Order: sequence, then C-alpha cells, then structure tokens
Amino acid sequence: MKYDAVVMGGGLAGLLCGIRLTQSGLSCAIVSAGQNALHFSSGSLDLLTHLPDGQVAEKPLSMLSALKAQAPTHPYSLIGEAQVAVLAQMAESILQQTGIRLKGSCEENHYRITPLGHKRMTWLSPEVVPTASLHQKMDIGKIAVVGIEGFLDFQPQMVADELQREGLSASAHYVHLPLLDRLRENPSEFRAVNVARWLDRTENMTQIIEEISPLVVDAEAVFLPACIGLDSEEPVLELQRRLGKPLYLLPTLPPSLLGIRLHECLLRQFRRQGGIVMPGDKVTSVNCINGRVESIQTRNHGDISLKAKHFVLATGSFFNNGLVAEFDRVYEPLMELDLCDISERAKWTNKQFFASQPYMAFGVKTDGKLRAQKGGVTINNLYVAGAVLGGFDPLTQGCGAGVSMISALFAANEIIGEISKNEAMQAEVAQWVFSIRALKAVLNARCVLLIALLQKLIHCTQGQNKQVQMASVYA
Ligand SMILES: Cc1cc2nc3c(=O)[nH]c(=O)nc-3n(C[C@H](O)[C@H](O)[C@H](O)COP(=O)(O)OP(=O)(O)OC[C@H]3O[C@@H](n4cnc5c(N)ncnc54)[C@H](O)[C@@H]3O)c2cc1C
Repeated sequence: MKYDAVVMGGGLAGLLCGIRLTQSGLSCAIVSAGQNALHFSSGSLDLLTHLPDGQVAEKPLSMLSALKAQAPTHPYSLIGEAQVAVLAQMAESILQQTGIRLKGSCEENHYRITPLGHKRMTWLSPEVVPTASLHQKMDIGKIAVVGIEGFLDFQPQMVADELQREGLSASAHYVHLPLLDRLRENPSEFRAVNVARWLDRTENMTQIIEEISPLVVDAEAVFLPACIGLDSEEPVLELQRRLGKPLYLLPTLPPSLLGIRLHECLLRQFRRQGGIVMPGDKVTSVNCINGRVESIQTRNHGDISLKAKHFVLATGSFFNNGLVAEFDRVYEPLMELDLCDISERAKWTNKQFFASQPYMAFGVKTDGKLRAQKGGVTINNLYVAGAVLGGFDPLTQGCGAGVSMISALFAANEIIGEISKNEAMQAEVAQWVFSIRALKAVLNARCVLLIALLQKLIHCTQGQNKQVQMASVYA
C-alpha cells in the first residue's frame, strides 16, 4: 500500500494534517490506535493564553516575538511568527469547512465558562458554549443553570454561585427526567455521552421540554451540562427553539461530548476528501534507511507494510503513549527519537502543584521544518506534529490545541511543497528527456538526409567520372 503521506495518530493534529493534505489532492492514510485527547477536552481550542513568565496573552499573535525570546524551542518559535499567523487563520477556515460551528478569532482570545462556572481564556469555542469578550461583562440577563438529577459530573449550584460572584444573575435548578431512570440504576454509566444517547432521541424531546420549561420560566438564558447533541447540534437547536430562549452547554467531565463531536466532524471531513482511516490499528515499527522512513508496520496489517513518500508522527504525549516515562527515563517508543528539554530526574517536577511542570514540555526535538531527529541526524521525510512535540507547556501556556493544529498544517504544507517541487522537477526532467529525444530524432532525420545527399553526390561524381572515361575512350 503506497500513499503520498501516512500519518501516525488520529487526534486533532493527525486529522488536521490529513485534511490539509487531501484537500490538496494528495493521497493520505491515518493510522490511529485509540481515543485521543479531544475525547477528554473542553471542546474549546487554545492558541496561546500565557507566556512562560506568566504574562497574559490577550492578543496571541502579537505575543509571538516575546514568546520566542522566552522559549526559543517552542513549536511556534520554530515555525516563525508570520507563518503561525497564516496557519492560525487557515485552521479557522478549515474548521469552518468541516461544518462545526465555532466562535472566536486568533486576533483576540475570549473567555469561556468552565464546568465550575469560572472564566477561562481560549481561542475558539463551540457556538453553544457560553462565552464573554475579555473586556465586557457577559450580558445575557437572568440565567437558569439546570443540572440533571443523578448526573454527578455537573453541579448547577457551584456554577450559579460562581456566576453570581461575577455579578451575574443566576439560579440553580435540577430537572428530573423519568426517561433517564433506567440509566440512573447504574451510576457509573450515568455519563454525558450515555445521557446524550437518550436526550437526542426525537421521541424524548416532548418530555424534556415539559420537565425543563417550568424551571426556567423567569430565566432569559438556560445553561445545561453538555449532555445533548452527540452526533449533531440539531437536538440542541430544537430544544432552544421550543424553550424560546437562548440555550448554552457547559463542558462536563470526560468523556466530553463537545470534544467528541469536534473529533467526529474532522473525521468526516477527512473521509469526505478521500482520506483513509485505519482506526484501532497501531503502528508497531518504523523502517528507516539512510535518513528516510521507507515504510511502517502496523498491528493489523502484519507483514504488509505501509509505504509513503512522507510520514507524520502525531502520536500525542504521555496521555496516549506518544511518549513513555519510566522512573528515570523518558522516550519516544516508536523510534527512540531525540527529545528536547529533558532535565535531570530531580527537576522533572515542580513542587508547587499549580506551577508549570517541566515534564509537560518534554517531547520530540525537531529541526526548523519540524522534521524528527535521531542521534542528531535529521530524518528527511518524517515530520512531527501535535502534543508529541517538545518545547511547550500546553497547560500553563494555554496553547495545546493551537500547537497541534498549527504544527499539523505546517507539516502538511511542507509535504505539499516537497511533493510539488518533486513533481515540478520530474516534469522538467520529462521535458528535457522529450527535448533530447526530439533533437535526436531531428538529428537522425538530418543524418539520413545527409547520407542520402552524400550518396547522391558520390553517385553523381561516379557518373561524371564514367562520362569522362567514356568521352576519353570515344575521343
Ligand atoms: C485530558 C486532556 C484534555 C485537554 N483539553 C484541552 C482543551 O480543552 N483545549 C485545548 O486547547 N487543549 C487541550 N488539551 C491539549 C491537547 O494535547 C491538544 O489539544 C490536542 O488535542 C492534542 O492532539 P494530538 O493529536 O497532538 O494528540 P492526541 O489527541 O493525544 O492524539 C494522538 C493519537 O495518536 C494515537 N497513537 C499513539 N500511538 C500510536 C501508534 N503507535 N500508532 C497509531 N496511533 C497511535 C493515539 O491513540 C491518539 O489517538 C488537552 C489534553 C489532555 C491530555
């Protein structure tokens, strides 16, 4: 099996890279072992909220040169200020094309409301999530925060209290939905995704409306935990229509419905564009010869190797085994690639729990084109994207999704550039070969003509000689 590119890992980075590659007409396969960080995320995407020294980044793009001075090995610093700005806009437009409705812009961060009712800065949020601009108070009138009886991952009172502390008018309520009684019998199954499977059924909408409506009569906006609209936003929009007031969803503890929906949208877009996904498959070995990856082997494909002109490593961080930590060593498990920023063991963690933890910035070291290195030697056709990269702390710098998407698009663009350069070179070579053949053909034709002429000349000369001979005989 041969592709233009094979991506290892199907999280946010792998999928975005695949979407960009297939959009450009390249053939691409993604091998993905299992769940990814999106399944556990808020569904909001961070670009950059803080510099390493703690400075707040309200306008992320304007902070990139200060970031470079403080963190020269940060992926944004390697990619370069101008490119990051271009790729952030490209990410926004690709996400829009997938059909997912997001709000926000790379020009300025906004606040999203967390499951605890706090404000947290971010770049893009699902349209259904309550947000506020950085310098204006949220202005949506009286808010009814409605929890679901039996669903322990969301505490409406806590959210309402926090909103009140922010000066907003908010009240807490619980709705009892008899349709969830069967689920309630098993508390460990009472999770956002399972609740959504019941709430999303068209035949259950009337009961949901009947139970929620009396609780929110006085409210001007309703906040619910994100337990509705797993496959599409349609049930959320329908509920909003029938309640007759704005409805917002707050992310819950994992598994996260908002993150899963984003993942599904990206997956659909990649497949729509002709991309091949190998879900549940795992890359087991990478064959590298003379500084190039020739092929990879996967668990499900056994002896059949996957070949490609280019490869992308997007296997995530410790969370998904893209990096592995033992007591005294950290390594990249597929190829033992070079890592950056590994300090001595005693300095891996910071005793201050909320401080930036040094191990968060552990990851694969690359050159300026995000190509992996092994033993100090660059692997020419192996690009690295996403959380497996080193040099940044997604948590304290608020840049997790941003690094994943921007590095993925950067890698994809490099591959597109390389392939078109090669194709242009091949076309040029083909042109040369054609010209040489044409010249040869012309020369051949001329030679034949020349030989014919020479023969004619010889023939004539011989004829003349004969005539002279005859004349002299008759003379
Ligand atoms: C729990 C959690 C919550 C987060 N929440 C947010 C958030 O709300 N907002 C935000 O901006 N950022 C968040 N982040 C940061 C997050 O890292 C990025 O947002 C981003 O989703 C990471 O994507 P990724 O594709 O680089 O890696 P991942 O999402 O980790 O995907 C890697 C994929 O590679 C697969 N894989 C690993 N090894 C192999 C192999 N050998 N063969 C094949 N496949 C393999 C894994 O199974 C996985 O599917 C969160 C991170 C974590 C861990």
